[in-house]
Amino acid sequence: MDQFDRAQELDARFRQQALLQHGGTRGATVSRLTCIDCEEPIPAARREAVPGCQRCIQCEEEIERR
Ligand SMILES: [Zn+2]
Repeated sequence: MDQFDRAQELDARFRQQALLQHGGTRGATVSRLTCIDCEEPIPAARREAVPGCQRCIQCEEEIERR
C-alpha cells in the first residue's frame, strides 16, 4: 500500500501544480461529485478538466443553450 500512497501523493501534487500553472484557481470552489441540478454523478474526468464545476455535461449544455 506504501507505493500506492506515494503515487497518490505525487498525483495530487502534480495536479495542484497544474492548477497553479493554469492560473488563479486560488479559492476556487471544489468540484461537486454530483450535479447540482439533476444530482447525477459528475465523471472524474470532467471534474478534473473543469475545476469547480457544479453540473454534469448535460445540464451544462442546457444552460449554455439558453
Ligand atoms: Zn445534471
